[in-house]
Amino acid sequence: MSMSKNRIVTIDGPSGAGKSTVARLLAERLGFQYLDTGALYRAVALYLRRQGAGEDVSDETLERLLKGLNIGFSDGRVYIDGEDVSEAVRTPEIGHYSSVFSARRPVREFLLSIQRAYPERYDTVVEGRDMGTVVFPDAWRKFFIDASPQERARRRYLQLLQKGVAVTMEEAMRDVQQRDERDSQRDIAPLRRSPDAVYIDTTSLGIEETIDKMLEFLHGE
Ligand code: C5P
Repeated sequence: MSMSKNRIVTIDGPSGAGKSTVARLLAERLGFQYLDTGALYRAVALYLRRQGAGEDVSDETLERLLKGLNIGFSDGRVYIDGEDVSEAVRTPEIGHYSSVFSARRPVREFLLSIQRAYPERYDTVVEGRDMGTVVFPDAWRKFFIDASPQERARRRYLQLLQKGVAVTMEEAMRDVQQRDERDSQRDIAPLRRSPDAVYIDTTSLGIEETIDKMLEFLHGE
């Protein structure tokens, strides 16, 4: 449980719903820190791939590989043992492996304390899949950000295109669908809307409109 005196705003939702952009901007507007927990899962996946781990890696090997690993996030950048891997984790391959490895208990347990340490020092906007349900059940405010699968695939496609990654719309659609399925059907900490989270469908909302809705809710209470 979070014993933090600081305020925590959680944002959960499926891949491509625009959580990262929204969380970063909301944090800016509130003067809060921002933590992208997907980046932590991606950094762990990159590290595990570099160590030669595949989809069938055992729990024992995962535990051994994660021992002593130092993963950090600050000012929107993510680090493996001090190395800035913010760009390296944004490939479709690491997106895939982050979803595969994130279903594994040793990986989720490893990242739990790292995630909970952030709001101990600052008011924080945290973003991921299980923020309001598992990691910060006592958060000050909770949101669940969603969009139609087509719109999420379109956003993911544009995002990758912008980064110069060659993908087709069909590949983006398949990636979003596969990750949705894996992230919501895994046994440990699956993607779920917490009953006390405010649901926002952003399919036909721009980023500013989404932020305004959230601020309205945060200030209106
Ligand atoms: O949000 P992003 O797409 O960067 O997350 C990458 C993957 O990390 C997700 O597909 C999901 O499997 C995993 N993840 C998770 N729990 C979180 C955040 C991300 O399982 N809190």
